[in-house]
Amino acid sequence: YAAKNGHGGGPVFATGLDDHAKARLTMLEELRTGLDRGELVLHYQPKVTVDDARRVIGMEALVRWQHPVHGLVYPDAFLYTAESADLMGRITTTVLEMACRQSRRWQDQGLPVPVAVNLSVSDLRDPDFPDQVSALLLRFGVPTTAIELEVTESVLMTDADTALVQLGRLRDMGLRIAVDDYGTGYSSLSYLQVLPVDDLKLDRSFVVRCGTDPRSAAIVQSTVGLAHSLGMRIIAEGVEDMEIFERLRVFGCDLAQGYGIARPDDAATVTAWLLERAGVEEPIR
Ligand code: C2E
Ligand code: MG
Ligand code: MG
Ligand code: MG
Repeated sequence: YAAKNGHGGGPVFATGLDDHAKARLTMLEELRTGLDRGELVLHYQPKVTVDDARRVIGMEALVRWQHPVHGLVYPDAFLYTAESADLMGRITTTVLEMACRQSRRWQDQGLPVPVAVNLSVSDLRDPDFPDQVSALLLRFGVPTTAIELEVTESVLMTDADTALVQLGRLRDMGLRIAVDDYGTGYSSLSYLQVLPVDDLKLDRSFVVRCGTDPRSAAIVQSTVGLAHSLGMRIIAEGVEDMEIFERLRVFGCDLAQGYGIARPDDAATVTAWLLERAGVEEPIR
């Protein structure tokens, strides 16, 4: 490529970087347009109780980009770039708005299921964020208890002091807070002790192995104990089969989420799933 363009002799990686930078700019341009055109969509994945009833106690909103050419693009492919270009604030606002609208719809359909939204570093750094959240809730007539916020351990630790203050404000407003991907970051027990948090979501990497690897099983078991002694609920993420689900029940885990229970899907599909279950299973909280 370099030779063809008459830059022969330059370091090989220069071409790669050029391409990379170009691709990044193209993506950002398309993402800005996409945001204007409403190309972001939400999929939802249920959180259920670890018992026979498997009651749905929440839905996690997961963002996707319905790209006109590339089709459905997953968050790992565009969120990092968006964050580095200061676009994350707009994305979170859009996601929160869609989540509030859906929460309102589910309430109106007699399915009052709380919706969880994932936050990023820039949301926690934005001093106006709690006020924005409160304005959105008001606009859609959604009670604060109907929205949960998930923050990964690594996002928390990027700016631990600020996170503490911001999450404190949001929790005082009545929103539930969850630590996401717990066990993969570097938070200390003393930080966890002061963190205003309701739920601990144990990272998938420990959960997938807890049926076969005794060390992962020990981690799951002791994290359940830790969460409970701090007055938090514990959620296992990445539950891919019923064998793991049964292990989690033995370990005393409260909630579970994963492909083995339900894959994330669009609102219509998830609503049908909810209605079908509401008929045969225990009523939804
Ligand atoms: P997360 O918050 O930990 O979300 C769980 C991810 O694991 C989702 O991937 C979900 O589809 C996937 N997953 C769920 N169950 C299973 C399972 O049983 N097995 C496996 N292998 N995977 C499972 P997704 O949707 O690609 O999202 C990836 C990450 O992107 C999320 O991880 C979250 O950190 C971030 N993200 C998604 N939506 C948003 C958003 O609106 N805002 C922000 N800031 N981050 C978001
Ligand atoms: Mg999450
Ligand atoms: Mg997670
Ligand atoms: Mg995860």
